[in-house]
Amino acid sequence: MLANDEEKPLAFWQGSDRHEGREQKTLTIILKSGGCSWNRCLMCSYRHERYTGLLADELAIRLIRQLRFVTRAVRIEEIEVVKLYTSGSFFDENEVPSAVLEEAGTLFRGKIIIAETRPEYVHEEILGDFITRIDDGTHEKPLYVAIGLETTNDQVREKSIDKGFSFADFNRAVGAARNTGTGIKAYLLMKPLFLTEKEAMADMKQSLSDLSGIADIISMNTCTVQRGTDMERYWKQGAYRPPYLWSVADVLATAPMEVLCDPLGGGQSRGAHNCGECDKEIIDAIKFYSLSGDRSVLSAVSKMECPCREEWAAVLDQEMPWCMPLTR
Ligand code: SF4
Ligand SMILES: [Zn+2]
Repeated sequence: MLANDEEKPLAFWQGSDRHEGREQKTLTIILKSGGCSWNRCLMCSYRHERYTGLLADELAIRLIRQLRFVTRAVRIEEIEVVKLYTSGSFFDENEVPSAVLEEAGTLFRGKIIIAETRPEYVHEEILGDFITRIDDGTHEKPLYVAIGLETTNDQVREKSIDKGFSFADFNRAVGAARNTGTGIKAYLLMKPLFLTEKEAMADMKQSLSDLSGIADIISMNTCTVQRGTDMERYWKQGAYRPPYLWSVADVLATAPMEVLCDPLGGGQSRGAHNCGECDKEIIDAIKFYSLSGDRSVLSAVSKMECPCREEWAAVLDQEMPWCMPLTR
């Protein structure tokens, strides 16, 4: 049982990521916060995880307790990179009060911090202030902002995701971050709603090409069907299928840069999947590539044989788009 002054985050775990060209020890923390201000993306269930009805001071206390809970539970001195997620925006003051940033700055000083946020909360003042707290001179880039851009195509982002910001908004945030020496991590989403398999691959290839030279780190999420979302409703109607792992491996193999990818829910009907026979081998190859940067495993995947490969080829060839009107 938790003591009164203890508060657990939604989740936290230790792992490894490829960062700045080598494998580094990470600590990922999903904080329960005041909640995402946008709160309407079609595939997102994280937005339901929030405190409601708390005054800013109480919200700050709850969040600070979560951070302290984690730092008591792990050997923080062994961690190199701390990834902070809030199911929204770490730099939205209404969601994460400034006292929480002060505490995080103290607890994680000297680490590399990757903090997720929507672009409208990326401002030089708040980033510069946070860097001052975490930077002890160890790292050239102690802070990265992680933005769920999802795709560089504004129409796909609007129609298939309802994300509520444009590629131009993202680029403005990139400019503001760069002015403070903050790095950029962009999240892309492979196969949101209403795209055929072929369209989804083309969208991702174009997005990767567009982000070349803009983002320091690119992480591609393969779309999963989360509970209680619009996407789940379409999926139950047979109107959505997550991407084939063949598509994911192909996109990664042909990307113009290294791309991180951990196909969550891979091999299951709600995640990127193939036939069930070949899934594990491909997922293992994707994870190995993501951690090592070694593309040869992806080339090996492209030569693998499985009957479902023909099914995938037929889908690419024959699946037709169904119409989304551009205007109302
Ligand atoms: S901005 Fe992020 S947290 Fe908010 S609804 Fe969209 S995907 Fe979910
Ligand atoms: Zn197969």
